[in-house]
Amino acid sequence: MQENQAGSAGEPVDVIVVGAGIAGLAAAGELARAGRTVMVLEKSRGLGGRMATRRFAGAVCDHGAQFFTVRTPPFEGIVTAARGAEKVRPWCEGFFKAGSLDRAPENAGDGHARWCGSQGMTDLPKFLAGTLPAETCTIRLGTKLASLGIDGGNVRACLDDGSMLSARAGVLTAPVPQTLDLLAAGGLLVTAEGRYAAPPAGALDPEAILALAEVGYDPCFALMLVLKQPSLVPAPGGIQFASGPLAWLGDNFQKGISSLPALTVHASGAFSREHFDTPPEEVSRMMLEAVRPWIDLGDGAGAIVEQSLHRWKFATPTSILPEPLVAVCREPPLVCCGDAFAGPRVEGAALSGLAAGSWLADLLAG
Ligand SMILES: Cc1cc2nc3c(=O)[nH]c(=O)nc-3n(C[C@H](O)[C@H](O)[C@H](O)COP(=O)(O)OP(=O)(O)OC[C@H]3O[C@@H](n4cnc5c(N)ncnc54)[C@H](O)[C@@H]3O)c2cc1C
Repeated sequence: MQENQAGSAGEPVDVIVVGAGIAGLAAAGELARAGRTVMVLEKSRGLGGRMATRRFAGAVCDHGAQFFTVRTPPFEGIVTAARGAEKVRPWCEGFFKAGSLDRAPENAGDGHARWCGSQGMTDLPKFLAGTLPAETCTIRLGTKLASLGIDGGNVRACLDDGSMLSARAGVLTAPVPQTLDLLAAGGLLVTAEGRYAAPPAGALDPEAILALAEVGYDPCFALMLVLKQPSLVPAPGGIQFASGPLAWLGDNFQKGISSLPALTVHASGAFSREHFDTPPEEVSRMMLEAVRPWIDLGDGAGAIVEQSLHRWKFATPTSILPEPLVAVCREPPLVCCGDAFAGPRVEGAALSGLAAGSWLADLLAG
């Protein structure tokens, strides 16, 4: 946990940011540059959210986002600074693509750079966190919000250990259904016909809540495999599947982040939805079966040294809202952002976080 001065004297901070993924950290940076005190609250023990890297059995696997693109000047600014600090690097210019599992993948390099973290995808969010000024910004890891409400004109965050924090404003970057759960637990939403709604004459904007309630996500199973031999995945180490049970097969050894041969296998949205509640051993067995053609089985014994399955409940949004941020409340300001706002994936989430941070900084300055 990173602890420093902001909010530690019991004074309300200017802004509470929920989530230390790329959107939350980008927003925190904008607010800090505008001179605001910021407290970032993150339920996990590590930074990065869905930009996630796991070390196990001596190997390193990115098990959330695998790579990112850099198509816009604001994100290019972040990536250039991170590259200068040797935290990110270009990986390749495209991967192999396969129509289905039984079709040979074809090289689909398109000349457009795919980037990755130098030692793993968490390197970029860690870099951003390291640029936040310690005097005015606090990041509290392992700190889960239980509810988000409004009290005396301030944002009131209740943590799951029962303690309370307050702030002049909030930036909400959790996947949208989780954000709505927090607002409902804070008494700001009601349930009508099985979905959340803002009560009439309540604090939240009913239109904004209506739009947010439409946002859905695909889940994703990520199977990580440590192998005895290097895999049979073609260079540069990734296959994207258009149909079937798998969506992605990534070789962390060829990617240059793992000193041991190790694969990350992502199931497709359809497979992950269908098997969301299937016992994990059965899911691993089915995914392993699908991925076997790219594993060097050698004499058949012990080709897979270790395996681990992770289930992402909210992996990727199935629809994207048109604006980079949605303000659900003006007094006190509460703004939602992340990869479901204006552009998906890592780059979209970063741009949305920057937009939300700068919008709120302007509002607080006014
Ligand atoms: C399996 C998978 C593969 C992907 N592949 C790619 C890819 O190759 N390229 C690409 O560009 N994108 C990819 N993505 C998407 C990309 O990871 C996301 O778009 C991006 O990381 C989203 O960032 P974010 O900050 O919006 O959200 P997140 O990273 O989800 O951050 C939100 C944070 O909020 C925290 N949080 C939630 N609730 C609470 C609470 N109650 N209290 C405190 N903290 C809370 C979460 O722990 C999380 O850290 C992939 C995602 C997944 C899951």
